Amino acid sequence: MNKDIATPIRTKAILEKHGFSFKKSLGQNFLIDTNILNRIVDHAELTPESGAIEIGPGIGALTEQLAKRSEKVLAFEIDQRLLPILADTLAPYSNVKIINEDVLKADIIAAIQQEFANIDDLMVVANLPYYVTTPIIMKLLEDQLPIRGIVCMLQKEVAERISASPGTKSYGSLSIAIQYYTKAETVMIVPKSVFIPQPNVDSAVIRLTKLDQPAVKVQDEDFFFTVTRASFAQRRKTILNNLTSQLEKGKERKEFIVQALNQAGIEPTRRGETLGLEEFARLADALLPHFR
Ligand code: SAM
Repeated sequence: MNKDIATPIRTKAILEKHGFSFKKSLGQNFLIDTNILNRIVDHAELTPESGAIEIGPGIGALTEQLAKRSEKVLAFEIDQRLLPILADTLAPYSNVKIINEDVLKADIIAAIQQEFANIDDLMVVANLPYYVTTPIIMKLLEDQLPIRGIVCMLQKEVAERISASPGTKSYGSLSIAIQYYTKAETVMIVPKSVFIPQPNVDSAVIRLTKLDQPAVKVQDEDFFFTVTRASFAQRRKTILNNLTSQLEKGKERKEFIVQALNQAGIEPTRRGETLGLEEFARLADALLPHFR
């Protein structure tokens, strides 16, 4: 039996054997620490009956650990050069399927229906390419996939923004977008030294557990997200000033914005970062009739 892929010696040997050169533009920072990988997989709470979806398997370091601890792994990899390497490194595992596609363009639901027909428990587990972390997470949530949740490595700063509470420096429209769909927790901080090449930023692992229904009820989801983004456009501005300058026709309708803030019980002089999801939901619903 071969040693795990994720050791410095084995990883270097694999890269050398296949003459692989990293593409920085694809966020290729590979994990070389089996202990860290196992802790990431622990957070996914897989059972032998679970299915795992991975984004960006690289040379298969995480894929291998997922294959050992789940029924089946489906992995999306954009870089065609990695396919022969994965065929080699993952040869001992018959329960892995690699799809050579940009995950942002992939029909993930169709792939799930095809590959996981008999599997009830599905988790996304990934060491994400850092140049597209947010679009990937948003796609996974907005596509309404039949998954229990997501455990993924990303930039520490983004992890902090995703799991931030109201009133903190990191709290913003990204926190709200993700906490609308999930319970979000930062579960691990990961040093740069466990990657090759080492990334420029610190990393963290987050666990997103999907809620049965969105955290708040709103009349129009798109408008709710428009209002939250507008409210954080300039962090030092009051919510009234941000909404007036950012919402289309906001300037013409300032008196309605004041009225809606009052109706929602929100002082116009507050700043967006002090509002919780419930307050944003009330505000968006109060503004909606004036902006529909
Ligand atoms: N899972 C491996 C590991 O932990 O060592 C590699 C992780 S590396 C941070 C990110 C991987 O995502 C790379 O293999 C890269 O080629 C792949 N990738 C980048 N953009 C992608 C995209 N849009 N769709 C699918 N895979 C992508």
